[in-house]
Amino acid sequence: MAPASSSEFNWGDALAELGGPSPGMLNIGVACADRHVAAGAGDRVAVRCLGRGRERRDITFRQLSDLSGRAAAVLAELGVRPGDTVAVLLGRVSGLFATALGIWKAGGIYCPLFAAFGPGPIRSRLELGRARVLITSDELYARKVAGARSSLPQLEHVLLLGEDGACAKVHPGCSDFGALMAAAQPAPSVSTRPDDPAFLHFTSGTTGTPKGAVHSHRAALAHLATARKVFGLTEADVFWCTAEPGWVTSTAYGVIAPLVCGATALIDEVDLEPRRWYGILHDENVTAWYTTPTAIRTMMRFGAALARSYRANSLRVAASVGEPLNCEAVLWGEKALGVPFLDTWWQTETGAIVIANAPGDGRRPGSMGRLLPGVEAAVMRCDGSEAKPVESADVVGELAIRAGWPSMFAGYLGDGKDPSPCFRYGWYFTGDLVRRDDDGFFWFVGRVDDMIKCGALQIGPFEVEAVLMDHPAVAEVGVVGKPDLLLREVPVAFAALNPGFDAGDALKTELLSFARQELGSTMAPREILFVAELPKTTTGKIMRRVLKAKAVGEPDGSDALSVQRPCPGRYDDE
Ligand code: AMP
Repeated sequence: MAPASSSEFNWGDALAELGGPSPGMLNIGVACADRHVAAGAGDRVAVRCLGRGRERRDITFRQLSDLSGRAAAVLAELGVRPGDTVAVLLGRVSGLFATALGIWKAGGIYCPLFAAFGPGPIRSRLELGRARVLITSDELYARKVAGARSSLPQLEHVLLLGEDGACAKVHPGCSDFGALMAAAQPAPSVSTRPDDPAFLHFTSGTTGTPKGAVHSHRAALAHLATARKVFGLTEADVFWCTAEPGWVTSTAYGVIAPLVCGATALIDEVDLEPRRWYGILHDENVTAWYTTPTAIRTMMRFGAALARSYRANSLRVAASVGEPLNCEAVLWGEKALGVPFLDTWWQTETGAIVIANAPGDGRRPGSMGRLLPGVEAAVMRCDGSEAKPVESADVVGELAIRAGWPSMFAGYLGDGKDPSPCFRYGWYFTGDLVRRDDDGFFWFVGRVDDMIKCGALQIGPFEVEAVLMDHPAVAEVGVVGKPDLLLREVPVAFAALNPGFDAGDALKTELLSFARQELGSTMAPREILFVAELPKTTTGKIMRRVLKAKAVGEPDGSDALSVQRPCPGRYDDE
């Protein structure tokens, strides 16, 4: 099967729409706010932020343009020059938007970090990113940064941002960002070109050490195009992306995508609470919703009846990203929400959605969907030093994308002049194993480095997980390879159970024989271990290296890394 692409699509149209004001210039901050003000839409709500008590804070495009101009002026005054990294450690607060846009207008590189990280990961990312400025809250600074400040000599300025501009406490060695912004005159954006660096995200590290991927202003072209194609976003929409700021999904679809489309970006300060989330979907007239499989599976535990009691009449479409969305979750989501529920695939390095079950293209629950326009992709088989696109359908290979799409990362930090080894023969190798069916739908198999090498067989953990997820007792499951003298590795499963099921030997035996029946004895797990919850990254991905360590009884550091809370739900469907 030949590489998939769509030749009629032209990225030049998106550049013509977002570029300016001077020829050859593209700045995400300008494209997100000033452009709409210039077009007469300054009074429309750009951002709606919900506080803890669900109180609303609205920011119009005019206010966002003004505030981000002030932020840019403050940063320039502090000596931030084009290409400097400005780290941001904030939750989902309204100040995040003017901060990000201000960094772009000052020509800086926006580098958001997870507020859930402890001091160690924050310090290492500040060092790796060579951040000269950090923007955070007084509370996060005191808890997570102050202790390490003396070991961060390159960090020249820390700016503290309070909600509504008021900072409760200005710690020694820090400045009040809100006060500085209030005193500043809004600065016009510096002239940035499409390929100038704009944002830096560290990959989630589900299998290894996080790496910093740099993206340019050109990425906004992909955010515009994919937001329209997958979500049908227009100025009339209220778009809710639930991602935390440290995850690339927040930068791409929490901030840039809705704003370049002129829609209202909604954020909620509070983490996942099913009743609250249904209330928000309903009361805020959310039209398009982007979340994660973990979130939808948590909501499943609360039952479809609860979802239906809040049925959000404005909602048109819901979608998820980050990990495989099993067929059951798609069908449940569609029934409970009453709208199409779409899986989308992309990663930090691709910068924007690449594969999706886009409306109008036909959907296939359980698959990641089809390739979006303007991108070329192939399923590659690697033989020694050679890589060839797979010609036939349903053959497993590594997903590769032809280099040069707008939101392609420019490289990893620290790679220097050497191109990253994931770029070969003009393709970017994603590290994900997939198969493509006859109709062009891609199916996730697993990460290359997660494959379980069992005798002559390569077992994709997701295929085993998907079968176990079909059993009513299983709420979540992670499958990894455990070293085996005879077969090299055998699959073992870690399962979290739905409420009402007894984690005893009888259920273990039942699950093992259920898996053997469905998968055959080679692919079926040899052991099942019951856990209260699976270790997850801050973006909800199962940390397989922690499970692998657990499987052989080694210390795994999971206490420091797991941030998911157990869900006290029930599964009362039908
Ligand atoms: P990150 O860069 O942290 O967002 O992680 C990207 C990785 O998440 C991808 O390489 C995949 O392994 C996984 N991923 C993202 N979306 C999906 C999806 N729809 N189905 C399966 N895996 C996914």
